[in-house]
Amino acid sequence: MIGIYDLELEKLKKIILERNAKRVLLQFPEGMKKESLEVMRELSSVCEPVLSVDPCFGACDIRTIPEADLTVHFCHTRMVEDERVVYVPCFSDADLIPVVKKALPLLPKTVSLATTVQHAHRIEEVREFLESEGFKVLLSKGNGMEYPGQVLGCNFSAVQGHESQAILFIGSGRFHPLGAAYYTRKRVIAADPSSMLVQEILPDQAQKEKYARISKAYDARVFGVVVSTKPGQKRFSVAQELAEQMRGRGAQAFVLVGDMITPDVLDYLPFDAFVITACPRIVIDDWKNYKKPVLLPEEAVELLKITQG
Ligand code: SF4
Repeated sequence: MIGIYDLELEKLKKIILERNAKRVLLQFPEGMKKESLEVMRELSSVCEPVLSVDPCFGACDIRTIPEADLTVHFCHTRMVEDERVVYVPCFSDADLIPVVKKALPLLPKTVSLATTVQHAHRIEEVREFLESEGFKVLLSKGNGMEYPGQVLGCNFSAVQGHESQAILFIGSGRFHPLGAAYYTRKRVIAADPSSMLVQEILPDQAQKEKYARISKAYDARVFGVVVSTKPGQKRFSVAQELAEQMRGRGAQAFVLVGDMITPDVLDYLPFDAFVITACPRIVIDDWKNYKKPVLLPEEAVELLKITQG
């Protein structure tokens, strides 16, 4: 264990030896970079570890370099098919039941379960506990996901189409529960086993933010449709089709391409508004940090229906 996470280093060493990888590039999400030195020391017995210091946002954000025989990507499961990449999920040893007990008064009788990969190995315990308390629990595996209940900020298929009245999300941060409320239009109870904080996110809140973004873009006439170069976010054809559709509705729309999509990059470009085909976090979590409007693709279409008829 490194901190509260199981980085499965013995298993990883075996894989490195079996693959005969001499130099190995290590990728950690920001919150885990503080553990990198300990991991590098440990892996030095079987290879030459090299740390990627670039930000790493998710399973979509894979980095390989020709100088390394292998990339080890920590804390996510496979999204991009690349045989040069090994994924280590980093399971947390946090007990989920105490925070679920705290969330009980907010739960309806039928509830869907969602979590991030860090807690996915313990979600079955949550299901058993809730069922013993008399709840009907819906737990399913989403498209492209490795574990039941596992969601990504860009993939809520594990909880979509469920006949539940609400979603119990177990994990940290606001992005996943807000995204779940946005895409399912259901109430989300977010229970964080680290902070023991339980919060309720109403679908209206997600929809209100959506219409605030659309109204901010109301006067925009020239749009940049942004594509990311990150391997799991690159949706070039989606951007092209969207730009074409927008032009068909009377807007001026151009495709833009970039790796780091931030306010520093977009706010100074000569476009009135941006449509983001990359990670939805840029819009759902960060839109208030941009001076110019940023929209999800479906929001751009809705905006044009309102403004162009
Ligand atoms: S696109 Fe965004 S939400 Fe999806 S895996 Fe990447 S960082 Fe996570």
